[in-house]
Amino acid sequence: MSRPSFSLPPSDLPNMTASSVDAIRTLDKNGKEITSVGFERFGFDCEVPLDVVRALYLRPHYVMTASSGNDEALDTKEADAHARFTQGHAAYQSKSIFHPETQSISYTTLSRFPPVKLLAPSARKRVLVTGGAGFVGSHLVDRLMLLGHEVTVLDNFFTGSKTSVSHWVGHPNFELVRHDVVEPFMIECDQIYHLACPASPVHYQFNAVKTIKTSFQGTLNMLGLAKRTKARFLLTSTSEVYGDPEVHPQPEDYWGHVNPIGPRACYDEGKRVAETLTYGFHNQDNVNVRVARIFNTYGPRMNPYDGRVVSNFIVQALRGQDLTVYGDGSQTRSFQYIHDLVDGLIALMNSDETRPVNIGNGDEFTILEFATLVRDIVEKVQKEDGVKLERRVQIIHEGLPQDDPQKRRPDTTRAKASLDWQPRWTVRMGLEEMVRYYKAKMAEGSL
Ligand code: NAD
Ligand code: UDP
Repeated sequence: MSRPSFSLPPSDLPNMTASSVDAIRTLDKNGKEITSVGFERFGFDCEVPLDVVRALYLRPHYVMTASSGNDEALDTKEADAHARFTQGHAAYQSKSIFHPETQSISYTTLSRFPPVKLLAPSARKRVLVTGGAGFVGSHLVDRLMLLGHEVTVLDNFFTGSKTSVSHWVGHPNFELVRHDVVEPFMIECDQIYHLACPASPVHYQFNAVKTIKTSFQGTLNMLGLAKRTKARFLLTSTSEVYGDPEVHPQPEDYWGHVNPIGPRACYDEGKRVAETLTYGFHNQDNVNVRVARIFNTYGPRMNPYDGRVVSNFIVQALRGQDLTVYGDGSQTRSFQYIHDLVDGLIALMNSDETRPVNIGNGDEFTILEFATLVRDIVEKVQKEDGVKLERRVQIIHEGLPQDDPQKRRPDTTRAKASLDWQPRWTVRMGLEEMVRYYKAKMAEGSL
């Protein structure tokens, strides 16, 4: 799908500036332009044009009005601009109207949804996504919906939000259910992606007992459901099962180094027991299982206030605040962009691999290097948008949290061999897109 060939004056674009639209040219690790996400593998075609996916998070889901708050008097110039902006995706246009003067939005029922694939009933899966209103879940839901499946999202909205999937509410293939996975849930389904669990240290430590309960009882309930319905079950586990690793990079057969009573234990041990449960059901009851060990992932729709490093640094830099590096910043992390993760999860679900699989990007940074990179990228995007920076933000140091892992990098040999999966997005490309997303949210006043 080709890029928009038009350009609009910044005033016509509520969520993005003209220069940032032009800047959306994404190159992969080999310098080749990325025009689609997904793949065709295992007889399963899940390729979607990148523009189509992007339209669901980078473009606003409303039309602007220059009027003085009168919903009826929708300014045609603004409507035209929006229609041109969405180009081939004009069908995505909602009738909701944003009023910049009053910083308010008039929601109306979406008149049209993004086009989804029309699948034969035999190919259309009934997919349950727990935690589908969260950061990772909402991107997975977008992909599954565009591919033509029937998707049910189960979420208690602890860290997720309805707005992250609101563009699908009302679609005949979509259902949103407010439900806590610690309570049993019955539904007929073919596949279960079990994501429900807070993922940021700030959120999962907010109520440690609840986090353990969600990891254990929630996973038990979902595995019970998989057993009853014979659905295929995928657990989103984490690199945290390796704790503060003594082996580097971390392969799947490393057993980990976890403090069972430390502040991160509710999450680390919760996910470890969730894996144990998953293989218990697999070995005892023949439940068809998949386990993804996800390494640090970032992207649009990430809660800007959940305390994770990528969102913290970008929001700080955009606000002209100093970047807070915890400790001396020598600890390392490897950052993966959301589209690579969704590719990996779908590939794993549709593969025959039942062993745990690391899904992550091998590009490792010290946190200090990463702070410098984020600052450079924010400065670049601001310059492209003609924003004059009053001062260069500084990098300051704060205390290192207890049990903060010193090193983390995935060994992705298994993912490559079993799924033919490798990350395509460079950290820089993903960060540029995420900066644009947060900038747009700030401009609209929702961040
Ligand atoms: P998130 O906090 O954005 O999403 C989690 C979702 O689960 C939210 O919508 C939340 O409301 C929901 N949820 C939490 N507890 C629930 C409960 N008891 N019942 C129902 N819903 C509940 O986090 P995320 O980054 O999207 O992570 C999704 C999954 O991926 C998690 O299982 C997480 O452990 C795993 N993971 C993520 C990363 C990452 O870097 N994002 C890394 C490793 C693993
Ligand atoms: N970190 C930081 N500044 C922040 C937030 C996090 O230096 O504002 C560090 C944190 O101490 C850790 C790394 O960044 O070493 C990644 O933290 P995050 O919470 O994103 O994820 P983790 O991998 O620790 O679960």
